[in-house]
Amino acid sequence: MCAFNAGRRRRSVVLLDHNVKVGRKILISGGGRCNFTNINAGPSNYVSANPHFCKSALAGYTPDDFIALVERHRIRFHEKKLGQLFCNESSQHIVNMLVSECEQSGAAFRLGCRVLKIEKGDSFHIATDNGDYRCRSLVIATGGLSIPSIGASGFGYRVAEQFGLSIVKTSPALVGLNFGEKELKELAELAGVSIDSQVTCQGVSFRENILFTHTGLSGPAILQASLYWSAGNSISINLVPEQDLTEWLLRKKRDGACAELKVLVADLLPKRFSDSFCRLYLPSRPVSEIADKALMEFAGRIRDWQVKPAGTAGYGKAEVTRGGVATDDLVARSLEARKVPGLYFIGEVVDVTGQLGGYNFQWAWASGFAAAQYV
Ligand SMILES: Cc1cc2nc3c(=O)[nH]c(=O)nc-3n(C[C@H](O)[C@H](O)[C@H](O)COP(=O)(O)OP(=O)(O)OC[C@H]3O[C@@H](n4cnc5c(N)ncnc54)[C@H](O)[C@@H]3O)c2cc1C
Repeated sequence: MCAFNAGRRRRSVVLLDHNVKVGRKILISGGGRCNFTNINAGPSNYVSANPHFCKSALAGYTPDDFIALVERHRIRFHEKKLGQLFCNESSQHIVNMLVSECEQSGAAFRLGCRVLKIEKGDSFHIATDNGDYRCRSLVIATGGLSIPSIGASGFGYRVAEQFGLSIVKTSPALVGLNFGEKELKELAELAGVSIDSQVTCQGVSFRENILFTHTGLSGPAILQASLYWSAGNSISINLVPEQDLTEWLLRKKRDGACAELKVLVADLLPKRFSDSFCRLYLPSRPVSEIADKALMEFAGRIRDWQVKPAGTAGYGKAEVTRGGVATDDLVARSLEARKVPGLYFIGEVVDVTGQLGGYNFQWAWASGFAAAQYV
């Protein structure tokens, strides 16, 4: 995005990547269909030490601008849910589009190219295993640490540190959360169960599915919550967001229901979950024999199930890296380092991390476009 927009401004652009294939993260994104933007993207969808920092770039290149580009390339797409736009066929179309824009603007690719050293005098001097380059503007767009198996590296953070910029502590985000030992023992048998829930972490709530896994919890609502989660935090899960469960159970009891609690609960939640949860928290008996107070406590647990994750599933599984190059050290409108004229950081390497749903690509496009106006 940055390369071809700079090329359109008649800059002479070379794009260096240590991968031999272009846009590998785009290719695997969105289950192979790239959730390339979200029509509702706005500053409130991003986490950053400075929540205002992303405003300028996001305003300068909007989801509509990217949609117009996609339409110009006749890529067919659809809204899956919640404003999330996906390719109808393949993420490859997005990569092809970006490559073709680069080619048209004269931006050249050097793939499989390892950067060995960066020095700055009057200009930047980049030594690589495939020749040396000199440039007045150097844009670091090396992404975060997620999925090292396809080329993610901490390179961008090291360059930032080399030039005296600060790094906001990084952590895996948009990632599954692992149970502690006790919960794992009790709930691992639920692997595969999925429940429409409301998940709240640090005061931010998401209403989507959660998925029990062999190590803990995943699914869109958990991935979203993981963006706000830090070690030691609990998350609250309401497993019946549509229903006043207390009122429902007490009414069943008043109406003389003689079914066992776990059978009643299985009317609202998957049977496997109901069996396990009842066994753990209120051994199942006919509901008529259970005291109102115990029923109310049980319902409270299902409406506000407190889980204290032991950790995340790590960078190997995370969709993004939270944290990164400190926004205090960058100019918001250009993404240029305040103290190092000509050095720019864009995309995921910056301490701006989006929620799940196309927001991270929109930040990558918008920040790339912003920097391209100044390089
Ligand atoms: C499985 C998965 C699915 C995702 N799905 C979506 C989605 O559908 N929608 C969405 O908005 N976001 C999604 N994301 C997040 C999104 O892919 C990233 O936020 C986005 O790609 C960041 O763009 P970027 O250009 O900053 O970095 P990247 O896309 O990671 O690109 C960084 C580039 O730098 C290169 N590089 C790294 N280190 C070096 C080095 N030392 N030397 C030379 N080159 C280097 C890499 O090879 C890579 O080509 C997903 C992420 C994952 C892991």
